[in-house]
Amino acid sequence: MKKEENKCPKCGEEKGQQKKGFTGSGSQRMYCNACKNKYTPNPKSRAYSDETRKQALRLLALGNTGRGVGKAMNMSKSNAYRWAQEEAKKKPVSVDKSHDGTRSV
Ligand SMILES: [Zn+2]
Repeated sequence: MKKEENKCPKCGEEKGQQKKGFTGSGSQRMYCNACKNKYTPNPKSRAYSDETRKQALRLLALGNTGRGVGKAMNMSKSNAYRWAQEEAKKKPVSVDKSHDGTRSV
């Protein structure tokens, strides 16, 4: 098992990391005294299996909202939303290739 490290993702500070309650999905929330940043070192979403993720994405592809998927899959809707966003980023975006880069100097 990996040793739990509490390191601020924003400033990289390891000292002064303080537990600060939990997120809506039940993950430990941390607070950095150095830069006053709040973060979640171990988001709950990582606990979901690939299978769960695939099923959620399938539901999203069928036109379900993140909220609907969250309800159907019994997970936080923010998690479903994030997966949806990640998936959206993966899709190829039409790139403007009108510039051929052969402009004479
Ligand atoms: Zn920090």
